[in-house]
Amino acid sequence: MFKAKKKYEVRTAGDPVLAKSAAPVGLVTPEIIQLADDMLQSMDAFDGIGLAAPQYGVSLRMIVIDVPLYEGEEETLTPFEKQMFANMPMALLDPEITARSGEVTEREEGCLSVPEIYAPVVRPARIAFRARLLDGSLIEGECGGLLGRCLQHEIDHLDGFLFTDRLSPDAANRIAGQMKRLVEFGMKNNFRRIKRK
Ligand code: ZN
Repeated sequence: MFKAKKKYEVRTAGDPVLAKSAAPVGLVTPEIIQLADDMLQSMDAFDGIGLAAPQYGVSLRMIVIDVPLYEGEEETLTPFEKQMFANMPMALLDPEITARSGEVTEREEGCLSVPEIYAPVVRPARIAFRARLLDGSLIEGECGGLLGRCLQHEIDHLDGFLFTDRLSPDAANRIAGQMKRLVEFGMKNNFRRIKRK
């Protein structure tokens, strides 16, 4: 007997749910725990390192992350960052950035909602943030590197922003044609990217 393949969906650029400010999660109900599990599975199916609930079609302030730790990076991590990596993959509820470093870094970004399009984005090098976990506990601390960038990218989704909204005019021009085709393709496909796994 073959196991039926499961169907995973991610919304793509142009879907109105990606441009909305998402609502707070509030109480952790069984439905919220189920949503986190579904999002973690989708992120994994699409080989992502982060996914925000609006990308899953749900306008709630929840993100899931699974940021890889690079060889040699561990020595540079703060105790809080180490604790974050030890808990991957993880779901964060109502995440909030409470401070941003003045120092910025530039790095190429991509997004499951903007497939096959990449461009450099300038963001604060470090952020302080707080969030709740599924067990109701609070976490609060500072993150930099790819983890800090991933958190900023995912929290942007909760406020209706894509990384393509944060580009220099030059970079925005460079991907304008690709973005137009992506949105046109989305209009014909209900803004859904589907994967069976
Ligand atoms: Zn994204």
